[in-house]
Amino acid sequence: MNAVSQSASPPIESMPKPAMLDVESIRRDFPILQRKVHGKPLIWLDSAATAQKPQAVIDRVSRFYEHENSNVHRGTHTLAEEACDACERARTRVAAFLGAFSMLEIVFVRGTTEGLNLLAAIFSESLLRPGDEIVLTAAEHHANIVPWQFAAKKTGAVIRVAPVDDNGDIILEEYEHLLGPRTRVVSITHISNVLGTVMPIREMTALAKRHGATVVIDGAQGVPHRRVDVQEIGCDFYVFSGHKLFAPMGIGAVYGRMEMWEQMPPWQGGGNMVEQVTFENSTFAPPPKRFEAGTPALAPAVGLGAAIDYLNGIGLDAIEQYETALLDYALEGIRSVNGLRLIGQPRDRGGVISFVMDGIPDMEVARVLDAEGIAVRAGTHCAQPILARFGLESTVRPSFAFYNTRAEADMLVDALRRIGCRR
Ligand code: PLP
Repeated sequence: MNAVSQSASPPIESMPKPAMLDVESIRRDFPILQRKVHGKPLIWLDSAATAQKPQAVIDRVSRFYEHENSNVHRGTHTLAEEACDACERARTRVAAFLGAFSMLEIVFVRGTTEGLNLLAAIFSESLLRPGDEIVLTAAEHHANIVPWQFAAKKTGAVIRVAPVDDNGDIILEEYEHLLGPRTRVVSITHISNVLGTVMPIREMTALAKRHGATVVIDGAQGVPHRRVDVQEIGCDFYVFSGHKLFAPMGIGAVYGRMEMWEQMPPWQGGGNMVEQVTFENSTFAPPPKRFEAGTPALAPAVGLGAAIDYLNGIGLDAIEQYETALLDYALEGIRSVNGLRLIGQPRDRGGVISFVMDGIPDMEVARVLDAEGIAVRAGTHCAQPILARFGLESTVRPSFAFYNTRAEADMLVDALRRIGCRR
């Protein structure tokens, strides 16, 4: 910090206090949180699998179908114009939310899985050559492994894996060691969906960029918990799913730097992505349309825009502060449960906690919690390699969002204590 900006800093006493969320009021925005399961109030600790939807999103999707529903064929009639405008407004919101330079850098997809498949498929055609290296981390979801395996098989490229330590943190020196002149693609998760590790993606991107690699971030667990600025991160692509961001299922987005998109061939062919078609040849629309063949998921896209408005209304920084304190609180309680082993103790954690209980199968823990109205996920979390790294086949994974409370964390811990006593 230079002298000018130091002298411009406000004195500590006058700095704003950490923002507090009015969680009770927020909870009223989510109708599903009012329901009961097995006669008990629902405690939704499965937001990493899918987040619940606020009324504002539900209403916006209904309004689309009640007033604007049309396919996209701008210029032919009023409803088509309105539907197109609504979709493009949603694209603008996604661009601003990610800190993209332009809305044209946002390609709508079904979700993270489709976005990563899009990139891996296109890179197989246009970027990867035999002997090239694709660097992943040990903490990837299957969605950020299998598409690259397809790409490697097709092109003769090789997958290299950067390890994590026993806490679940990336071993940066080993990651750096893997990078070299053959590194063509680095594709890394922002936040691990099993360990909760927040990866140092800025630093990892900078290291990859020294070798000219194309950097892809799997932001499925990132966007719900951290403010994202793709320009600050310096990545080439950032991919996420709407349904984990309080938006409808069936929509997601791939941010890509325009220079990258412009050089890339399409991956699916059909309507909307072309300029001219003859039986001999086709010419393609500029990005993002080039990558959006067929009828887009318009209502979910519009719902995604509404979810982003809703989140901006609360404030991403306030959400992060609230969730960090809530996770610390929940962790303290969970650690105190006899016979429970936490998996991963990352330096920076977002959203999820994984554990196993001595002598009690994970599915059994989840089933007993469900009987208490507490929804958690148990299983492989579609991330078998990171579980294998810890010698496991599954874990129990409560995951938190800003609509969860300390009282809910207490109820989880009490229920786990009771389960522990059954042994
Ligand atoms: N990547 C991560 C880190 C995830 O947690 C998930 C889903 O849990 C995915 C990718 C795949 O997301 P989707 O199933 O929405 O495509």
